[in-house]
Amino acid sequence: MLAVLLFAGLVTAQPFHEGKYALFPRPEPVDRESTHHFDVRFYRIDLNLPMVSGAMSARCRVELVPRHDNFDTFSLHFVSLVCDSIRRAGNACTFTAGSGRLLVDLDRVFANGESLTVDIYYHRNSGTSNRGYYWYSRGTQGIPHAVTYSVTETDDSRYWFPCFDQPWDKAERGCQINVTVPDSLSACANGTLDSVTTVAQTKTYWWTHRFPISTYLMCFAASKFTNWQVWWVHDGDSMPVRYYVWPEDSSQAAGNFSRMGDMLTFFSQPDRYGLYPFSTEKYGMVAVYPYPWGGMEHQTMTTIHRQWARSGSVNGIAHELAHQWWGDMVTCLDWRNIWLNEGFATYSDELYEYHYRGRASFLSMMRSRAEDYFSEEATDPHPIYDPPPGHEFDWGHSYCKGAWVQHMLRYVVGDTNWAAPGVFFRMLRVFGDSLRFGNANTEDYRRIAEDITGLDLGWFYDEWVYQLGYPRYTLGWQARQSGNDWSIVLNLSQNNMSGAPACFHMPVEVRVRFASGDTLIRFDVASNPQRIEFPVRAQPTVVDFDPNEWLLDQHTVTVGIEESQGVTAPRLRIAGTSPASGPVRLHLELPASTDVRLEVMDRAGRLVRTLLSGRRPAGRSVVLWDFADDRGHGLGAGVYFVRMVAGHERRTVSLVLP
Ligand SMILES: [Zn+2]
Repeated sequence: MLAVLLFAGLVTAQPFHEGKYALFPRPEPVDRESTHHFDVRFYRIDLNLPMVSGAMSARCRVELVPRHDNFDTFSLHFVSLVCDSIRRAGNACTFTAGSGRLLVDLDRVFANGESLTVDIYYHRNSGTSNRGYYWYSRGTQGIPHAVTYSVTETDDSRYWFPCFDQPWDKAERGCQINVTVPDSLSACANGTLDSVTTVAQTKTYWWTHRFPISTYLMCFAASKFTNWQVWWVHDGDSMPVRYYVWPEDSSQAAGNFSRMGDMLTFFSQPDRYGLYPFSTEKYGMVAVYPYPWGGMEHQTMTTIHRQWARSGSVNGIAHELAHQWWGDMVTCLDWRNIWLNEGFATYSDELYEYHYRGRASFLSMMRSRAEDYFSEEATDPHPIYDPPPGHEFDWGHSYCKGAWVQHMLRYVVGDTNWAAPGVFFRMLRVFGDSLRFGNANTEDYRRIAEDITGLDLGWFYDEWVYQLGYPRYTLGWQARQSGNDWSIVLNLSQNNMSGAPACFHMPVEVRVRFASGDTLIRFDVASNPQRIEFPVRAQPTVVDFDPNEWLLDQHTVTVGIEESQGVTAPRLRIAGTSPASGPVRLHLELPASTDVRLEVMDRAGRLVRTLLSGRRPAGRSVVLWDFADDRGHGLGAGVYFVRMVAGHERRTVSLVLP
């Protein structure tokens, strides 16, 4: 699912109770309700939509298998609907409706594993408020055509048909949704359109979907649609892609949907996600309005906001398509694991961005989504696992951070070459294959990631998924010279937000630049703070933190700063005074963060060089001076003075250039 204007603020600011996540939640088995001692196999829904109001009448056939003996009653979720009668094999069953449930008393007792089918006849009254099932008449809110559709994530399917409305009880044999509308209208749903039948002034559209499906991924839409079909050709095979939009939107929509084939091909590559999972049926999109979302990944039939048809949304369309693998083929076990749906789909639309517009565009999208996450985490801090109720679709968390977790996992497992997808994508395909058409939780993903990579990734999931926050690094660096050899000392500290891990153990990359060339150093982080020294081939001039942008972090890099313990007063010292032994090394010590000016004067008191000017943090640092003046010219022999002005204090040292 995606918000209407991809980046529109879904930022919610609910008060956060300090310490709520002090002990971060661990995955637990799904809390299966005691009444759910059965397994749904198939739903067939016959909807009769007069399309003159929100009223409708329907029959829902539920095929299920009891999971215990002496099975003579069961209940389904059922809200804002009215049950008229229930029959099983022609026999009437008694029922009770109330408190969001429809309790069915069967006409006989069933044994464990014995299949049974019930037909539930029900209706929806005109005037029932829009939820799960949406009805809009023509004319209001600029609506050009009467429209009815369903959109139900997380658990609003119960507002349009009786069902066991949890993502983890997929109907293994799929669903059939038959929609009867006035003959000037048409209707679409999951799967394949088997036939259209006409009776009197009505038409019935017979749709069948033959894959396991969760209730929230079932859908229908009915209106005065124009529809057309294009063929996606892959490996000598082909699959229909079917679109439903209002007639006045169709020419724009055809253009705005034109990248669909490329998207299907990109994600279906054998070294990316593998073949589109429902290729024996179809993919499709139906555009509606008004619509509370941008897009919703109904299985094989995504429902989108009309705006995407009229103005386009490459990212949104790619996002919903990618959900067919991540969300539909493999569905989050429960809503605690929503990031597996949204994080995967969001990273997919970012990967498509890379494929379509290149690396710079991809990185700028990643950056902007990192900012969205940082600002949301500032007002609404929580882990992406088990978001607080009502926060499942927080853009900054489930989507942006979820996608960054995928990006960082790719980095941690070392799959960083865009042109040659490797172990990260293999891991995703194994995740997809082993949980194909089923459900997954975060621990399933961790287990498979560890199996495929051979890495212990418990720390990664703990820090990034089960806990909140992100690292806020300060990297101080200092060059060291010993004879002709150089080394670089790095001092990495983390000042993470309240409730976040005190130390993120992400490996870190820094790029060390020299007068000519540079080198990339990657090191593991075991503590906070951490001090580490590497030999380098020349005198370092600049250090870039995370130059390839693999980390969801904020950082500052300071030059020459080490620990400040023991520094009680400003101090300036000098070492190495001969051009033959390299630049002069000026050692600065500051007891507190101060505005500092570091200047070189000749013996007449003329300023020849400003080495530093600006705020410096507390601590010890080294500044190198190569005996050049401000214009880069070498200075002649003689006496020079180096003066440090630190706040109100001054320190001066002298040296003689030969
Ligand atoms: Zn989504």
